[in-house]
Amino acid sequence: MNDVISRGREAVNPTAFSRRGFLARTSYFGALYATARLFPMSALAGELAGDSRVSQTPIVDKGFASVRKIGDGLYATISDPSKGYQTICNGGFLVGKDSALMIEGFGSAAGAAFQMDALRMVSQVPVKGALDTHYHFDHSMGNGFYSGNGIPLWAHANTAKRIVETYGAMQGVDKAVALGPLEKTVKDSKTELARKHREENLAMVTVVFNIANATVLALPNHPIDPAKLPMKMDLGGLTAVIESYPGHSGTDIVVRVPEQNVVYTGDLAIHGVRLEANFEDVRFVGQGHGLCARTRIGLWPGRSCALPRAFRRHRRASAEDAQSGSAGGRGC
Ligand SMILES: [Zn+2]
Repeated sequence: MNDVISRGREAVNPTAFSRRGFLARTSYFGALYATARLFPMSALAGELAGDSRVSQTPIVDKGFASVRKIGDGLYATISDPSKGYQTICNGGFLVGKDSALMIEGFGSAAGAAFQMDALRMVSQVPVKGALDTHYHFDHSMGNGFYSGNGIPLWAHANTAKRIVETYGAMQGVDKAVALGPLEKTVKDSKTELARKHREENLAMVTVVFNIANATVLALPNHPIDPAKLPMKMDLGGLTAVIESYPGHSGTDIVVRVPEQNVVYTGDLAIHGVRLEANFEDVRFVGQGHGLCARTRIGLWPGRSCALPRAFRRHRRASAEDAQSGSAGGRGC
């Protein structure tokens, strides 16, 4: 933890930028990219065919993302980054009689605007707020859309700080200085397999670097103190329950709709393959599109939502990860 804080202090001071610090913050992208490939590519229609709540026809599909109804007033935004980096992660929105809640800031302001346009296709209720499930770039780089439109933005209390420390620190840094060491590791690869992995890692870090440098960062202005959760948000006939769990990024928030057994998990539900087993009775919307496979919307069958039990197990797994040094800065 002290190491993280000291790295953060270093990072907010551009003159103190160091290659070592940058690589420490970005080297995990390769690992997560490899993990993403473990998830099987599966047809969205096939996954959803068994759940009558999920509309088989999207209300809008722009290639890089589509939006589907998944419940009463509940919508899922499912990304396909192979078609563009506008949204990157999955998200969604909740629409009550009085107001709506937007989930995720996505990878760009264009991504957040896309989701807002989708909301306006189905409802004209005012937007009560938007929420970043955590600080990672694919969930927060589009925050400027919300701030530019005067929409309150909610997130875990540490999210703003982590955005600045991680992505603010990349801004204005010479690209050759930032990426040179990774390019060198590619050149120095001793096997074709190592070269392939390092190239993938370099490609991913380059994407993050470019996005961070192309973005005017906007920070959440409604910090959520995890000690005060759960928090209920009444949208008018639809109640969202906001909860926080440790595991993926240290800033993770989930949005649950208990009456409909639906949860917008952010990236918590994908933190390692072990967790996947804890969700064996859950259908996930939006599985299988590369990086965005990490962000899930869970649909529980039956009458009770198994989330607390699943996350209790998750907490134990995370503690084990922390002890073995493998937990922490996942990139997206
Ligand atoms: Zn993430």
